[in-house]
Amino acid sequence: MDTNYKAGEKMSSLIEVKNVSKIYRMGDEKIVALNNISFSMEKGKFYCLLGTSGSGKSTLLNLLAGLEKPNKGEIRIKNALISKMNEKQLAKFRQNNIGFVFQSYNLLPMLTALENVSLPLTFKGENKKVRDKKAKALLKAVGLSERLNHRPNQMSGGQQQRVSIARAFIGKPDIVFADEPTGNLDTKTSKEVMELITSMARENNQTLVIVTHDIEIADYADYVVYIRDGLIEKIEKAMEAKEVL
Ligand code: ADP
Ligand code: MG
Repeated sequence: MDTNYKAGEKMSSLIEVKNVSKIYRMGDEKIVALNNISFSMEKGKFYCLLGTSGSGKSTLLNLLAGLEKPNKGEIRIKNALISKMNEKQLAKFRQNNIGFVFQSYNLLPMLTALENVSLPLTFKGENKKVRDKKAKALLKAVGLSERLNHRPNQMSGGQQQRVSIARAFIGKPDIVFADEPTGNLDTKTSKEVMELITSMARENNQTLVIVTHDIEIADYADYVVYIRDGLIEKIEKAMEAKEVL
């Protein structure tokens, strides 16, 4: 399999999606979650994927993160053809390049905040001293220095999401994907969580792709990707839209 960039080839975007379809089969019924979509995303930008419930947002994010496979089409990240990778290749690719934040946090219940955050570094083979040092620094950055030994059920929703943000960023991935990261949080906490994610991504010039049905999240983005019935309606440069106002 050839997933590497070759000299002489045109430099491409960070994320490239070409003619991608995702179809779910439920008995006799066919659900077209993504209908032959193509677009690209640039490094260091913040994209907000906006659409109503059932429009295909989570499906698209899962495909981009290599958590699911398309039925048709190609997905390239940093020129690597992730849509054709096997599970082992994908796991390694994700470890080195991708962080993911879930709506329901998805922390491991038996592990402390410190252990949850340092877990991705365990898979990368870092020693415990380095892992703990980095995890403590990140938990401090998200304002949880006083909660290192708390387990998920001993923390509020907002605190759990901050732990999961620290976990997503600890490996310094090029791309962080987040699926409705503020979906379970109140307005004030949502704002804090959004400010945290965006400032962490900007600091390291990381690319951020956040799925939401909340139009207010779009205020933080560089680009808004409108998705509807499995189709990309348009991609709008958010800054320009704001400058006009
Ligand atoms: P969103 O995240 O925008 O709410 P999804 O991507 O979760 O939407 O779903 C898009 C469509 O695909 C919906 O009609 C949904 O019911 C369907 N769908 C999603 N996942 C599955 C699945 N695993 N099996 C069958 N249908 C699915
Ligand atoms: Mg969803």
